[in-house]
This record gives sequence, C-alpha cells and structure tokens, in this order.
Amino acid sequence: MTVTTRFAPSPTGHLHVGNVRTALHNWLWARRAGGRFVLRIDDTDRERSKEEYVEGIRADLAWLGLDIDGEERQSARFALYEAEFDKLKAAGRVYACYETPEELDIRRKVLLSRGLPPVYERKPADAPVPEGVAPHWRFRLDHEAPIEWTDMIRGPQHFEPKTLSDPVVRRADGSWLYLLPSVIDDIAMGISHVVRGEDHVSNTAAQIQMFASLGAKPPEFAHEALLVGTEGKLSKRLGSLGMAALREAGIEPIALVALLARLGTSDPVEPVTSPAPLIESIDFARFGRAPARFDEAELALINQKILHHTDYAAVAPRLPVAIGEARWNAIRPNLMTVAEAADWAAVFDGPLVPPAPEEADRPVLAAAAAAAPSLDWGADPWRALTDAVKAATGAKGRALFLPLRRALTARDHGPDMAELLPLIAQGEAVARLGAA
Ligand code: GLU
Repeated sequence: MTVTTRFAPSPTGHLHVGNVRTALHNWLWARRAGGRFVLRIDDTDRERSKEEYVEGIRADLAWLGLDIDGEERQSARFALYEAEFDKLKAAGRVYACYETPEELDIRRKVLLSRGLPPVYERKPADAPVPEGVAPHWRFRLDHEAPIEWTDMIRGPQHFEPKTLSDPVVRRADGSWLYLLPSVIDDIAMGISHVVRGEDHVSNTAAQIQMFASLGAKPPEFAHEALLVGTEGKLSKRLGSLGMAALREAGIEPIALVALLARLGTSDPVEPVTSPAPLIESIDFARFGRAPARFDEAELALINQKILHHTDYAAVAPRLPVAIGEARWNAIRPNLMTVAEAADWAAVFDGPLVPPAPEEADRPVLAAAAAAAPSLDWGADPWRALTDAVKAATGAKGRALFLPLRRALTARDHGPDMAELLPLIAQGEAVARLGAA
C-alpha cells in the first residue's frame, strides 16, 4: 500500500499553529513511509474562500519545509461530487429533507426537554412533500451496521449509528457541506491515512459509512487531541497565531516543526536542525489523549537551542556581510534569534560606545591599552592580554575580565572572550581600550 496523506484546510483564513500541527503530522507520516503528501484546498464555500489565503497556505507550508506532492482544489471537482451524489441518491443513501432550521431547532429542544438525545428523526416515506420548497439532502446511515475502527491514537472506536443524526451533505441551494466531498476525494486520491483533530471523531463515524456506500474501504484514522494554550483552553491567541507573527518574532521554521512534532507525545522535544529525526520517529501510538499544551515561551527556548548548533551555511543569506562563519560560530550561543546577529556586527567592527569605566577599573584598562598594540593578534590575544594586565596590576578573576569585556564589547555578557577577541581587528580593540 502506498501511504498517501492529505492536509485539507479551508482557505477562509491564515494557517495557525493548530492546523500547522495537523499538516506536519500528515507530512511526517507520509515522508516516513516514502509516501505522498497532498494539499487539498477545501474551497467548496465560495463566499468565504479567498485566493489570498490559498497563496498564504502554500507559502506557509513552503516556509515550514513541508513540501507537497500535489495540490487539489475541491472547487474544481464539483462534477465528480455530482456524479457520486447521483449514485447515492439512486441507491437511496441520500434523501431529500424539507424541514426549516426553525423546525429542526424546536424538535431538538423538545427531545432534549424529555431527556432524549437530539437525534434527527426521519420522516416516513409517505410524508407529504411541501410544494415549491427546494430540499436539502441527508445521508442515510445504516442503522444495522455498527461503526467500528481502530484509531491510531484513540484505539478501538465504536458508534451505534442509531445514536447519530443522518448528516446533511448538501444544502438546498446545491452547495456542499464538508462531509461527503471529503470522502469522495479521499477515495479518488487514494488517501491511506487521515490525520486530523479529535473534533472530527463523530464526522469519521458518519464518513466510515459513506466510504462503504461508495464501495470503498475507509482509510486509517488518527484523531489527535487538540492543541491548547498555556491557559488550558484553545485560546483566541493560539487560534490566530499565524506564521507571519512567528516569523517576525524570529522563530525558525524548524523550531516550530521540532516543537509541534513532539508536543502531546511521550517523546521529548529536541533541538533538531533538520526534520529527519522527526520523520524517523513519528509514531501515533506515542500520542497522548490529553490536550497538548502550546507555550510560546517553550517555542522561544527551543528556537534558541536550535540556533546554538545551526551551521553558518543555513543562515548565511540572512546575516549581515560582517558576520562570517567564525563570527557566527562565536555568537550563536548568545542568540535568541538570527536577527540579533546584526547587533553583534558593531561589536566586531564598531562603531561601539562602551560605558564609562568605573574608577576602580582604570588601572586594568590602562595596562590593557598599553599592552594591546604589541600583542600577536594571530595567537590567542585574549590570553596574552589578560596575562599582561595581570602581571602589571595583580588583578584577577572578575575584576580583570569584566572591565576588559565591557571596554571591548560594551556588554557584560557574551561569547567566550578568547573566541571573540581574535575576531575584532587589533586596531579596533586598541582604540577601544585606549578610549576607556
Ligand atoms: N476542511 C476540513 C477542516 O479543515 C478538513 C478536515 C479533514 O481533514 O478531513 O476541518
């Protein structure tokens, strides 16, 4: 069996962290099996679907490195839906309904007030058909066929079809609801695995019968626990946190991928620099049933950890020319984002205005200014500088290192000075020490 998965967003908004997670898991699963990952644009709602969102979805997937093996659009497939619908109609598996939303609502309330489940009640076959009313269409669930599947995350699932309402599949104006076109497409596109949020579990129950009614074997399903914010619920922030905002905050796509691949699983989040280890290790059996908590602070932290061992080649196009490979290697343990590298360009080449030195530090700085011009900059200048200052002043430890670091970098913290100093030109360092 060829593994084929799909990501099926509706282009009615930008992708947010939650749907990117679903896309990622489908992608990882396909890549692990050497299979295919298809982007299916669910644009049956022509009013709300926008081309700019379709473009945004493609761009976000590309940014994340989730390459696709094909793109399909539901709006181009209406003829197929029509043909399959006609077959189901002829077989009596879809039927016309004439209730108004108000009638359905009243009926639901009556059932609830009697303590009964608000399941749609089919009309008798000989019920009168109102005149001049266009019907909407429901799928007739087979009440005699219990619905069962083994979910890759949730384990064995069982539904009694009698407890479910026959789902509406088509509106009176002929437009399609999500359920049936999705099944028709999953069959036509040879989808082997459907990975989606657990809010779709009851849809799956109905869809399993739709697969059977169209003569197809259903795919495997994995319904993942939903993603929640740190406050414990699907926060508004999370629901709207898009890729553009993360990109602006300096989040690397691989950091988001690393976090979302493992969040809610029993595997630790690891600071990977490529998705290869995530592809190799994806396993739905390791996904938990509890909601996965997404924490922006955790994302920032994993981003930082990843930068610490990100190769120069991977970021070079985004660095100022002043930051070459050696400089990148020196500063990367101190970066939260790649953009911060630009702040370090001045530390290397100036202009830099170090803070006015404290009185007590003057002898150290004077000794350093005296020693620096004659040091061999090619051979561990930091060692030579600190040895010379120590010999001249007797200063050691923090009293020796901190004033020098401040005068040379205008910062209290940063990379190891032994690594940093050779990357600052000798003339520049001499000038900084002299100015202090
Ligand atoms: N367009 C549907 C959604 O976004 C797709 C669900 C599915 O994966 O089948 O909810």
